[in-house]
Amino acid sequence: METKQNYIGGKWTAALSGKTRGVVNPATGETLALAADSSRVDARKAVGAARESFYGAGEWRRMNAQKRADVVWGIAEAVEARKGELALLDTRNSGKPLREAEGDVDDAVHCFKYYAGLITKPYGGAYDVNDNFGPMHAYAVHEPVGVCAQIAPWNYPLLMAAWKLAPALAAGNSVVFKPSSLTPLSTVALFEIFDKNGLPAGAANLVLGSGGEAGAELAENRGVDMITFTGSTGVGRSVAVAAAGNLKKIGLELGGKSPNVVFADADFEGAVEWAMVGIFFNQGEVCSAGSRLLIEESLRDRFVKRLAERANALSLGNPEHNPDMGPLVSKAHMERVLRYIETGKKEGATLVCGGSRYTEGECAKGFFVRPTIFDNCAPGMTVVREEIFGPVLTVQTFKTEAEAVALANDTDYGLAGAVFTSDGARALRVIKEIRAGITWINCYNPTFNEAPWGGYKMSGFGRELGIHGLEEYQEIKQVNTNLQPGAIGWYKEP
Ligand code: NAD
Repeated sequence: METKQNYIGGKWTAALSGKTRGVVNPATGETLALAADSSRVDARKAVGAARESFYGAGEWRRMNAQKRADVVWGIAEAVEARKGELALLDTRNSGKPLREAEGDVDDAVHCFKYYAGLITKPYGGAYDVNDNFGPMHAYAVHEPVGVCAQIAPWNYPLLMAAWKLAPALAAGNSVVFKPSSLTPLSTVALFEIFDKNGLPAGAANLVLGSGGEAGAELAENRGVDMITFTGSTGVGRSVAVAAAGNLKKIGLELGGKSPNVVFADADFEGAVEWAMVGIFFNQGEVCSAGSRLLIEESLRDRFVKRLAERANALSLGNPEHNPDMGPLVSKAHMERVLRYIETGKKEGATLVCGGSRYTEGECAKGFFVRPTIFDNCAPGMTVVREEIFGPVLTVQTFKTEAEAVALANDTDYGLAGAVFTSDGARALRVIKEIRAGITWINCYNPTFNEAPWGGYKMSGFGRELGIHGLEEYQEIKQVNTNLQPGAIGWYKEP
């Protein structure tokens, strides 16, 4: 069976220990490939290669922006050319339906193109300053941060890699990237593309392996100038603590428990379908998932009935055959989601549909969970408070706008939220009050490379995508020039 390797300093290399781990297809339980199981030593080696690239003789950060942009654009085109293969890799490895994986490849292509374009439009500032020391001129330039470590989750393997690597590389940084150990396959293919499309050795390095070893080393390593992490809030906290050792610049994209607020005047069928997109897209393994449905009490019975009817009609199957939902990413994760469902039942929520593993037909050996809806949920319930990261929706009701807002904000998280209403002013009032970084009106989940993405509160800090996403990977340098060189007479002559 093929073994996927690390990519360090422009060379494909095995983990120093020789250890590997299996990469599993969650739809079938079969092992797809083996992948290097890197230790701290491998991660250190990758950081060394990135430092040599950035602080040594490496050409990447010294290349002018247009040349770097040409390379990044070339990467986008190569990704596009391998769309079918990359989509199939993510589908087989993460369980997402093929049409969703194809959409991820399109978004990844656009992400590389967007940052290739953006980096050729630098902006800074030139300042008209006057000073006691004589005439001065000041300007500011953006520079790359240095060596960036990037740690990604498993739910959008290729897309999360693009969101991180495109801006960091376009800005001229050298990077060490670690995908989730569950889903490394499309990232390995992406690095094959880097290798063949003019990215100089050491500019981008790949370390495969577990978070506890390779990931923890990247967070701690003092040779790393910046770390960006996308994953759970618990691990994000440990990354932040480890990063404090050398006060690395840090970006955290963490979990969520996002409210989807539906008023009785909303377009009924539209709100039902978007609510489904909000919680069942990618099997609910979406950080911004609309996992808490908050519905105006007068609409509740009709809405929940229709939602359950449509959820029950969703097809589950091998994601290569484009069902509505594929399996969850792993057996362990499926078991975790099923435990949450049991907790919901014990805590008194009313199970409206789903609530169990699905093993019919081609799903017999996979890690499938039926789309699940809990009605009559109360604010203190575990299923309302904790991120489940699966196809599990909780329903709570409200009578007034103020009550809706209070329920929406009754969470430690602040990643996303949505409101459905035909009253435009109300939509804007509610969105203004929701403490979250990503919000939608009359839709749920659309995401754009041009617009900043990130959370409030315990959903993290920093932004990916858009101009803000590029600036995260940049420092700003102020350059002050004396326009009248010569003695200034500040100190007395001896
Ligand atoms: P996770 O926190 O378990 O793992 C994320 C990554 O961190 C993996 O690569 C893992 O190997 C690594 N890791 C684990 N322990 C580590 C440690 N001690 N030090 C350094 N790295 C370590 O998350 P996951 O299960 O892969 O992904 C699901 C989580 O990701 C959910 O909470 C979800 O909300 C979040 N997520 C957030 C966003 C966002 O944009 N805010 C996007 C996608 C996923």
